[in-house]
Amino acid sequence: MSYLLMFVTLLHLITLAILFIATMEKSWWVWDGMENSDLWYNCRFDNDTQTWLCATSKETEWLQSVQVLMVLSVVFSSVSFLVFLGQLFTMSKGGLFYFTGLCQVFAGLTAFAAALIYTLHNQEILEASQELTKGHFGYCFILAWVCVPLLLISGVMYIHLLLHPLANPKGAKKQCELCRKPAYLQCTKCRVTFYCDTDHQQADWVGIHEKVCQLLTPIRTTMPFHSLQADRDHQCAQIQHRQKELIEISRAVAQKKLFEGKYQESLPAAQLSLHCAMDVYGSHSLMLVPAYLLLAEANVGLGSLVQAEKYMCQAEWTVMKTPDCSPTVLHQLHRSQGRLYTATGNLEGALLHFANDVYHASEEYGLDNIVTCSGYFLMANVFIKQGKMDIASSLYAEVASTWHSHLTTLLKSHTQGSMTLEQSLALKCAWLLPPGITPGTEAVFSRKTEYIKIKDEAQQAEADQMLRAMMDIQESSPKQDATQNALVTHCLAMLWFLGGSADKAYVVDDSTRSAALVFSRKALQSIQLVPDHSLTVPIQNLMQLAAETAQHTTNQAEHVLV
Ligand SMILES: [Zn+2]
Ligand SMILES: [Zn+2]
Repeated sequence: MSYLLMFVTLLHLITLAILFIATMEKSWWVWDGMENSDLWYNCRFDNDTQTWLCATSKETEWLQSVQVLMVLSVVFSSVSFLVFLGQLFTMSKGGLFYFTGLCQVFAGLTAFAAALIYTLHNQEILEASQELTKGHFGYCFILAWVCVPLLLISGVMYIHLLLHPLANPKGAKKQCELCRKPAYLQCTKCRVTFYCDTDHQQADWVGIHEKVCQLLTPIRTTMPFHSLQADRDHQCAQIQHRQKELIEISRAVAQKKLFEGKYQESLPAAQLSLHCAMDVYGSHSLMLVPAYLLLAEANVGLGSLVQAEKYMCQAEWTVMKTPDCSPTVLHQLHRSQGRLYTATGNLEGALLHFANDVYHASEEYGLDNIVTCSGYFLMANVFIKQGKMDIASSLYAEVASTWHSHLTTLLKSHTQGSMTLEQSLALKCAWLLPPGITPGTEAVFSRKTEYIKIKDEAQQAEADQMLRAMMDIQESSPKQDATQNALVTHCLAMLWFLGGSADKAYVVDDSTRSAALVFSRKALQSIQLVPDHSLTVPIQNLMQLAAETAQHTTNQAEHVLV
């Protein structure tokens, strides 16, 4: 804790004590040292018994208001102190210092009013008791006046503490993780992440920090440097390796949130990946492009198109300066540009970008890959907006069949059983693994699995979003295509079935299972409407499988309970 924070605490305690004494003690007014009067009693020193004899003061309206104001002042100041203590010991330092400061200022103002009334109207207040001319103001009265500036000063200091990063050690300027403004809060778990207020802390926690909190500590702690050059290099390399992992994880999290439609929540993760990439690769590297694109797409989703265009320009500029970009980067760039154009209503421009997206994606992944076919899906959405339903539905058919064959392969390898967790995850996400992440030590491996899992969830979110959109469009169109319907719902059923079973660590809950069952039933209904029954058996098998696994999980749960 900084000295200033300690000083403010001490000041508050002392002021509170003085205020208490002023309110409760004798002698607001003194007559020759033998008789005095306070807010509550008139007392006289009795020489015969050597004791103070006290009687309740005669209450006038002025006396009552002084009493009330002084008590209020004590209450305000105490509440303010309790709130302050509460904030110090919980994470939410900062946001509520306003409350503490305001309470304290109020306490100062009420004390001021009380002292002022006593000063101006002491004649009326004391009239009933004694002749006024013989006496003078007592020390409690002076203390009440002393409290006024002290309370006001400490109130202002609390508010000041909130506005300026005084609670931080000198030299190290802490910045808010999200908005880069001066920070006042610290994550109590990693102790290396700071925030300007509780809102930003909460937003970052939900967005990304929860997943990377522990990863950040070794990266952001400046370790004592080794004397040997070789050791230093080793240490730097290790930190860089961790930073690269962090970039990938935060990128995957942002992507997942985007697919889920949680645009606001995706911002912290995208920002983290951008800042981290800047640290590692410098501010002009091509490695920054994916982060720029994520930020642009999040802003498109949020409707702030100007901001989105800014990020898009940064990405375009970076790509333009690099002579031979990989197709992956180009496909991502065009896809994001297409999304931005769609949002601004430039549909022709959007189509052009999506066409480029598909071209570059197919260069990297091949034509009938699920990555490439997302481009078809986006194109089809634009055609729908243009009213060209025929082109749109043929593109949707392409998307559905690509996903169908992909999911069928996955399901087959899953039901054949013998795969390990790592194999099945790798099969699902092999094409999504960035270069540089290779299995190594046990620790790296565990984080790699974690990373693949996030990637896998992102993939699932994207597929779910696309397939559902296609299903909704099918169901709302006047001439329904039962084959296409069956294909899409079968895909959804497989997707939901696989989503819960590729990894035992996934939460296998009833909703996942029942979703698989619901979609299988839908698919079965659709398939009965068409002459081609080649899908009937796979769908029935899947239904049985889903039901069995559900049964199995229930049995297991019962077993555990017994
Ligand atoms: Zn902030
Ligand atoms: Zn943390």
